[in-house]
Amino acid sequence: MKISIVLPIYNEEKNIPILYQELKEVFNKTGFDYEIIAVNDGSKDKSWLEMKNISETDRKYKLINFKYNFGQTSALAAGIKLASGDVIIPMDSDLQNDPADIPIFIDKINEGYDVVSGWRQKRWKGNMFSRKIPSVIANWLIAFITGIKIHDNGCTMKAYKREIIQGVNLYGEMHRFVAAYASWRGGRVIEIIVNSRERKYGNTNYGISRTFKVLLDLIVFKFM
Ligand code: UDP
Ligand code: MG
Repeated sequence: MKISIVLPIYNEEKNIPILYQELKEVFNKTGFDYEIIAVNDGSKDKSWLEMKNISETDRKYKLINFKYNFGQTSALAAGIKLASGDVIIPMDSDLQNDPADIPIFIDKINEGYDVVSGWRQKRWKGNMFSRKIPSVIANWLIAFITGIKIHDNGCTMKAYKREIIQGVNLYGEMHRFVAAYASWRGGRVIEIIVNSRERKYGNTNYGISRTFKVLLDLIVFKFM
């Protein structure tokens, strides 16, 4: 079984080498065949330089470079398109998702699930109004419209069998709804609790306006 890790990257220069070491540690321990597809989403810092440095010494670290900032979903979509693994695992590249969770995702895929969705249970320290409430409402609405209860659609870290996600066109904020979509198509979906860490380097790219974008794209997704 081959695993493709897909990393959307926007201004993560400090996080890139650390995440690479963490990923390598996990893969050295588990012995899975793997590739890492790092997608630079038009970063304005030294992210692209850091990415090139790694890929020069490691052919498993593959690169995509966007000239402009097209957004996380576009970066994920490009990485997923290129992925050749049997299982595709997108992850945030700011160290908030934890590579140590990868083996748990793979266990669930081996049990026969098509999508394994991460659930960051303790992720809102001190962000009650800007994060917790919008997120709870958005996840509730997504469950209402899609008919599938997933606590944390916004968690980038999910595992997909390749055939369930490749060929799905993703726009706007739609990477959040792929678990529901897979379930509409008869896929088996399960949630697992994942580690969620605080961002140490760089800044979040999103505020409250994201919630509205997510909800608009949810409506589009429903009609698609
Ligand atoms: N990201 C991206 N393009 C963007 C915004 C974000 O590729 O336009 C990446 C970012 O580098 C990170 C992930 O998407 O790896 C999640 O972004 P962020 O940490 O800003 O979101 P939050 O964790 O605050 O929800
Ligand atoms: Mg983040």
